[in-house]
Amino acid sequence: MATSSTRPDLPEAVDVAVIGGGIIGVSTAYFLAKKGVPVALFEKGRIAGEQSSRNWGFVRQQGRAPEELPLIMESLRVWSGIEAEIGDHVGFHRTGCLYTARNDREIAEFEAFIDHAKQHQLDTYMMSAAELRDLVPDMTGGWKAALHTPSDGRAEPGLAAPAIARAAQARGAHVHTNCAVRGLDFKGGKVAGVVTEHGRVKASQVVLAGGIWSSLFSGNHDIALPQLRIQNNVFRTTPCNEVFPGAIWADDVAIRRREDGGYTVAHGYEADFHIGPEALRWFYDFQPAYKHEGSNLRKRFSLQSLKELMTRKHWSLDDTTPFEATRVTNPKPYKSVIMETFANLRRTFPSLADVGIEETWAGLIDVTPDAIPVISPVDEIPGFYISTGYSGHGFGIGPGAGLVTAEMVTGAPSSVDLSAFRFRRFADGTPNPFGGAV
Ligand SMILES: Cc1cc2nc3c(=O)[nH]c(=O)nc-3n(C[C@H](O)[C@H](O)[C@H](O)COP(=O)(O)OP(=O)(O)OC[C@H]3O[C@@H](n4cnc5c(N)ncnc54)[C@H](O)[C@@H]3O)c2cc1C
Repeated sequence: MATSSTRPDLPEAVDVAVIGGGIIGVSTAYFLAKKGVPVALFEKGRIAGEQSSRNWGFVRQQGRAPEELPLIMESLRVWSGIEAEIGDHVGFHRTGCLYTARNDREIAEFEAFIDHAKQHQLDTYMMSAAELRDLVPDMTGGWKAALHTPSDGRAEPGLAAPAIARAAQARGAHVHTNCAVRGLDFKGGKVAGVVTEHGRVKASQVVLAGGIWSSLFSGNHDIALPQLRIQNNVFRTTPCNEVFPGAIWADDVAIRRREDGGYTVAHGYEADFHIGPEALRWFYDFQPAYKHEGSNLRKRFSLQSLKELMTRKHWSLDDTTPFEATRVTNPKPYKSVIMETFANLRRTFPSLADVGIEETWAGLIDVTPDAIPVISPVDEIPGFYISTGYSGHGFGIGPGAGLVTAEMVTGAPSSVDLSAFRFRRFADGTPNPFGGAV
């Protein structure tokens, strides 16, 4: 059923089509439009309906993998000028990020990061327990030390991607919501455009920035992109006194100051893993990461597992697709996790004991086997590029990732070395930091 019908507002042809209206897709479209490149962005639901509005809002360099550090530093540079550049509000503030350590193992990890940060002249430093008490007097927990990066920031996930999408439109980008891309169009073995649910749009280059959907989309074109989904449960508090103006990760609770005077709060390390067919499909690829992080994952056989089981893996482009079936992925937060996290918040920050919970939500995070993204051409399909797999770090990295994705597609010199993010690493024996090869 449902053959494509043409929607009058779709352009006939652009140079670049971007699939996905999260922070990565909108930032890519913005930087392409800024260069004067004809670009169209297609979002199956609404702008930032999935990860990009559901995240914690940390914009942090601290704790990043070595490969990612130059990219997030570049992204911070973009964040710091973006409001002036686009004339819109994204809620960015350089208010610092703080990680607390309970034991020597965590302190050793922080020290390793400091060594690394020094190579990039990053202002990260170790605080003693006494210095931490001075900086955050309202915090309990018997911490031995803390890692602090004053130049880290925070931004408002509800504002940022929509504002950047508007800026892209103002510079000439076509932005189409409720418009799923069913697949790639080809001519002579090369990408010739996209087939959307409302018709074809010609484009010599296509960027896939589809978040948790990227592996499914690629799979329909026989491109194997290892990617899994992890659920994180979040809430925001009622307005309250300020215990810290930035973001704190304190073991079993993580908080980020919001512009509305409350905090966004989540468990510091526990997350939910819905066991489904994708877990089996990518079992070997994710073994090293699982050995490393698996004890923090609550394994669930859930509604998400069933949805995954029932999702078609292949379809023809003149039929409806899984992207049209789920406009916005909106997993239900686990109440028990929210309540446990709420208790952790009140224990760690006693002055917040009287806050209320204003709203709860959950999001599915897309992760790769080595927890760094893919920002890369796909050699098998000339003209097809992937910018996805941001593994829980993509909000902060987003504007910078959009910049380098736009540079990659236009063949401009890259602001950051992208070799670590190449798609080929999954097949060329590249070592995985968690063990073995990626
Ligand atoms: C709870 C939570 C907390 C997080 N905390 C942080 C944090 O504090 N800091 C940080 O930096 N990162 C954080 N992250 C990660 C960050 O949110 C993501 O890495 C980032 O938003 C990814 O952006 P994206 O554009 O790749 O994906 P998304 O925001 O998921 O966007 C992808 C979009 O593509 C669309 N799409 C997919 N397929 C198609 C198709 N075929 N046609 C049309 N549209 C399609 C989807 O509908 C979706 O809107 C967190 C994530 C979650 C869920």
